[in-house]
Amino acid sequence: MSLTEPDEPVVELLGVRAAYGAIEVLKGVDLTVPAGSVVALLGPNGGGKTTTMKVVSGLMPSTSGELRISGRNVTGITATEASRLGICSIPEGRGVFANLTVRENLWVATGTGRKRAEIEEAAYARFPKLAERRNQLAGSMSGGEQQMLSLSRALGTDPVVLLLDELSMGLAPMIVSQMYDIVGQLAAEGISILVAEQFARVVLPIADTAALMLGGRVVRVGRPAEIEDELSTTYLGG
Ligand code: ATP
Repeated sequence: MSLTEPDEPVVELLGVRAAYGAIEVLKGVDLTVPAGSVVALLGPNGGGKTTTMKVVSGLMPSTSGELRISGRNVTGITATEASRLGICSIPEGRGVFANLTVRENLWVATGTGRKRAEIEEAAYARFPKLAERRNQLAGSMSGGEQQMLSLSRALGTDPVVLLLDELSMGLAPMIVSQMYDIVGQLAAEGISILVAEQFARVVLPIADTAALMLGGRVVRVGRPAEIEDELSTTYLGG
């Protein structure tokens, strides 16, 4: 678990730039995730939300700037190192193994020495639906059930920081709000969470802070309600 105090930054990006080949997509990102809080990264398609998550999880190198985890400069970290530091990402599209069963998917998460049975028990306690489906192939479940499974797999690694990219994608509104209730509980348990969402409304109720990302920069950080007002007037045309 994290040794950081509440409100101490767990993740910090300072002037982070990153590019796909010659095309720079992050143009100096400044962003802070305080310990045990939920930070919503909002903004339209193409603003750089996914790329920011990739830099934090070590999947994408930055070209300049600094990445700090729990106060340590870890710029240039690899994905393996990031996961050792407790950074766990759930990518867009969920990342479950479609042709493995629910249990097998959970077992694959046991990289941290936790027992299979323990991980299964924790997953079923949080999502009883998964217990009913334990021997079903993950690919044959509904989108919401797959998302429950991907969250359970992530939690099996005892993350310090959870990176969630478009959790709501392709899910019915009721399922989305159930998923975000769980995310709120995880934050209350001390996990720091950075969540990218194109559709702000679903995440703002559980977010402590919202950051608006446009054109490769975080252009505004504030309380969720303030940012929501700004979003509807700036680019949703409301
Ligand atoms: P989305 O919701 O679509 O994921 P986003 O805000 O997360 O949007 P990114 O996915 O980070 O934005 O993309 C930022 C920019 O980088 C976009 O203009 C996108 O076209 C470009 N981009 C993303 N991935 C690649 C890639 N593999 N190669 C080249 N350009 C890319």
